[in-house]
Amino acid sequence: MRFVPHQVYFQEDALSYPLGRELFARFSRQGTGMVVVPKGSPIRACEGLSPEQAYLSAKRTLVVAVRRALRFQTCKPSAHYQLPLVSGCPGLCEYCYLQTTLGPRPYVRVYVNTDEILEAADRHIRERAPETTVFEGAATSDPMSVEEYTGSVARAVAFFASRPHGRFRLATKYCAVEGILDVVHRRRTRVRFSINTDRAIAQFERGTPALEERLAAARKVAGAGYPVGFLVAPVIAYPGWQGEYRSLVRGLVGSVQERAEPDLTFEVISHRFTRRAKSLICGRHPDSALPMNEGERCPVRGRFGYVKFVYPKAVIDSMKSLFEEEIRRCFPAAAIEYVI
Ligand code: SF4
Repeated sequence: MRFVPHQVYFQEDALSYPLGRELFARFSRQGTGMVVVPKGSPIRACEGLSPEQAYLSAKRTLVVAVRRALRFQTCKPSAHYQLPLVSGCPGLCEYCYLQTTLGPRPYVRVYVNTDEILEAADRHIRERAPETTVFEGAATSDPMSVEEYTGSVARAVAFFASRPHGRFRLATKYCAVEGILDVVHRRRTRVRFSINTDRAIAQFERGTPALEERLAAARKVAGAGYPVGFLVAPVIAYPGWQGEYRSLVRGLVGSVQERAEPDLTFEVISHRFTRRAKSLICGRHPDSALPMNEGERCPVRGRFGYVKFVYPKAVIDSMKSLFEEEIRRCFPAAAIEYVI
């Protein structure tokens, strides 16, 4: 599944970078509608549209930009810093964490000043050396969704291969992995594939590749010697969930080469939502069947002070037992980082 933008906005100064010019030429050849906006001007791609239409239109709009904030945000607990190569994602996952973080017009924004971004990463690494500094590439995006346009994940992989005190990790549902397979990585980049049951993908993850395609991509990446992982998220306790999630884990056997298993990781995250997310999701996906009945959940105050509605303890406990048992049985050498 490829992302083909319906329109492309270029920040004027992005055209002074080789990647900006390359993308301009590429989309001109394709006949894609393009607009060049002066530096600092807002993007007005979705004016006059309803919240639902504006959301969908933004997801089909590529913005080619220069990243200005080069002091990166922290990314606890999984990494020290975010690595902002891209922000936004063309996927239409109803539960997506970007629903709340990217505002009403979540354009797919790629940054063309990759060298400057990696130089900034280098400064962060040097500040913490000899400690290892870990960067998360998917904190505000799925960067593989636009990798065929940017090649920025491949450049980041090569950069971290040359930095003994740096590590890179990213999570993805997208499958355009060919561009990273031959890059020297020295096992300093971990690629985690976000997976779910066929039912959850069909119902809640529109605009993203099917499970089989994700597993095929995982096989290729593991075959290229990268450390890989599976991120099972969000786990949704729909009727019959236990059998389908068990099958999901069993179906992974054989999806990564044996040599990947000793370094294979699993992360499992149960579905949760905030009131703000629920209200945005209902506005943007009016027919959503995502279970968000607050009466069936437990309110928990999160790290940043807002209340999340999580499954009751008994449900989470049964998810923990199911995944721990099934992963241990199928992948005895793998690391289960967390089941929450
Ligand atoms: S693929 Fe990931 S980042 Fe993209 S919409 Fe889905 S959950 Fe969000």
